Amino acid sequence: MIGSRQGIGMTSARTRDRLVKRLMDQGIRSEAVLNQIRSVPRHLFVDEALASRAYEDTALPIGLGQTISQPFIVARMTEALLAGFEGEKVLEIGTGCGYQTAVLAPLVKQIYTVERLRELMVKTRQRLRDLDIYNVQYRPGDGWEGWPKYGPYDGIIVTAAASSMPKKLLQQLAPGGRLIIPIGQPGQQDLTMVVNHPDAYEQVSLGPVSFVPLVQGK
Ligand code: SAH
Repeated sequence: MIGSRQGIGMTSARTRDRLVKRLMDQGIRSEAVLNQIRSVPRHLFVDEALASRAYEDTALPIGLGQTISQPFIVARMTEALLAGFEGEKVLEIGTGCGYQTAVLAPLVKQIYTVERLRELMVKTRQRLRDLDIYNVQYRPGDGWEGWPKYGPYDGIIVTAAASSMPKKLLQQLAPGGRLIIPIGQPGQQDLTMVVNHPDAYEQVSLGPVSFVPLVQGK
């Protein structure tokens, strides 16, 4: 039977289950993360015209030259971040439309999120409130600076690609904390995980990714 666009159509449980199955096939193991991918209404984070594609495993444009991240990458980054600690305080750089924020929020105590485009940040703050997500603090600003006021953070997740490792983010990482960040130039970015051990930073590559750049300066 062919479903209606609203009911058993493009945003239905079956459509979401298909996405979750796909992520499992690609190696996502965390039940908590998979449940979040199933329950966050991704169609509410994209333009109505793109809603029918919201549960495809693909990045989509969201205006202002920005994108909503690919569900697989959101799942992978969230899983990598949460493998390291009992979720407490997380700093997120690159709020964008807030999809990553929404997936992560119920899994940690508090998120501090920084976005350089104020207009986008204001819209996203309203969207997440409409979804009853309240454990997020928002700041318009430059992610290269982090958000020192509330640091150090148990986890830091960056959803734009940095040209090099941002030193200030390393400084805001709590002992034992982990930083998940894409690093590199367009076309050759590497998803990098840094763990803050007592004697050294351990750096692990999680594979190639494709993000918009983490813009330098204002
Ligand atoms: N997290 C989003 C994807 C974000 S796209 C999701 O879940 O879909 C990357 C975002 O990083 C964009 O909104 C962009 O404006 C923002 N950004 C780019 N450079 C930045 C900087 N220096 N500081 C803060 N945010 C930045």
